[in-house]
Amino acid sequence: MVLTTTKSDSEAPLRSTFASRYARTSLPRFKIPTEAMPKDAAFQIVNDELMLDGNPRLNLASFVTTWMEPECDKLIMASINKNYVDMDEYPVTTELQNRCVNMIAHLFHAPVGDDEKAIGVGTVGSSEAIMLAGLAFKRKWQAKRKAQCKPCDRPNIVTGANVQVCWEKFARYFEVELKEVKLSEGCYIMDPAKAVEMVDENTICIAAILGSTLTGEFEDVKLLNELLMKKNKETGWDTPIHVDAASGGFIAPFLWPELEWDFRLPLVKSINVSGHKYGLVYAGVGWIVWRSKDDLPEELVFHINYLGCDQPTFTLNFSKGSFQIIAQYYQFIRLGFEWMLKSVKIGSAREDGQKSCFKIEGEQSQNRRCSPPPALPVPIWASRTSTAVGDVITRKPYVTEKQVAYLRTEVFRLKTEWGVGCC
Ligand SMILES: *Cc1c(COP(=O)(O)O)cnc(C)c1O
Repeated sequence: MVLTTTKSDSEAPLRSTFASRYARTSLPRFKIPTEAMPKDAAFQIVNDELMLDGNPRLNLASFVTTWMEPECDKLIMASINKNYVDMDEYPVTTELQNRCVNMIAHLFHAPVGDDEKAIGVGTVGSSEAIMLAGLAFKRKWQAKRKAQCKPCDRPNIVTGANVQVCWEKFARYFEVELKEVKLSEGCYIMDPAKAVEMVDENTICIAAILGSTLTGEFEDVKLLNELLMKKNKETGWDTPIHVDAASGGFIAPFLWPELEWDFRLPLVKSINVSGHKYGLVYAGVGWIVWRSKDDLPEELVFHINYLGCDQPTFTLNFSKGSFQIIAQYYQFIRLGFEWMLKSVKIGSAREDGQKSCFKIEGEQSQNRRCSPPPALPVPIWASRTSTAVGDVITRKPYVTEKQVAYLRTEVFRLKTEWGVGCC
């Protein structure tokens, strides 16, 4: 007796994916295909093509987080469809971002009273944060110059030549001259004395880097602050400092709490940090925090009201995802100071306990750094040829059992020329 019946189209689920016509006909590469296709076929095609990407967990070339706990992944999937800009619709997400801003401001010793709120915002990454910080400095400088009836059409910014490319972007997009302090043989970070020398009346700020992208070294913000205070006093200017702590902002407060690089120094007016680097969140989150309300010109804050009640915003774009903010909050409360400290400590543990970089074996490898720690716990590797560098990045995962991805020790710095950027 036949108990089950089969429908006439019953062969549909049995069709082999790879024998279906969707797998046999090629898709136009640059035009939207004329016809639709079943969802499983679309999934298979996209998924298979993506197999040629690298494996993020073996990515040794960037500082960016590639692993989070499954509980956080769950939160992320649950909030993947929330638009961050819709603050009335998602007020709790907004509240979490405000909490994160305040946590970071306190971590960086912003002079925020107990009943005060810190001034800052979540961004797509440090790049957006830096654009906002730069704009605030430019506006403040312009307003001051206008009030003094002085020309305000030739602003400049002083940085080390080792700055991350986003500063060059800022300078070009927002029409500010970038004055770079040249690096010298054997020292690949900004010399504070030379930077201060380059400051003139058109300088909107000096940007110091806490954790040079190339070598991981910290620039001496304390000395910079001292020298600049002196120059400001002599000249009557009030040139401020910005600290690009994209990578070091979540390292220094834990490993070197005594090191003064943040709002403890009076000229430091704003600091950016990448949540997706040592903030341990997937790509797409950065933070900018100002010392006080006075350091963010009010005219840069937009008031949006068409989504509900009045919401002040200061970001470059409008809509974006919310999950990174939620994930950042998760990491802060999940790890607490205790575990953030532990993860950074383990992440910077070195075989010899002293050296500031991992030893990477190889014919063309070289390990040098011009200053002792404090610095980021990043391995550095230099080579004369880009092929060798490519090999390290793509084919040979130099991850030892000590390098647990979660602890972000997969961070790698590579340069293709001897001596440049690797010291
Ligand atoms: C990574 C980095 C940036 C850019 O940050 P994103 O978060 O990738 O936009 C800026 N400055 C420094 C020093 C960096 O290391």
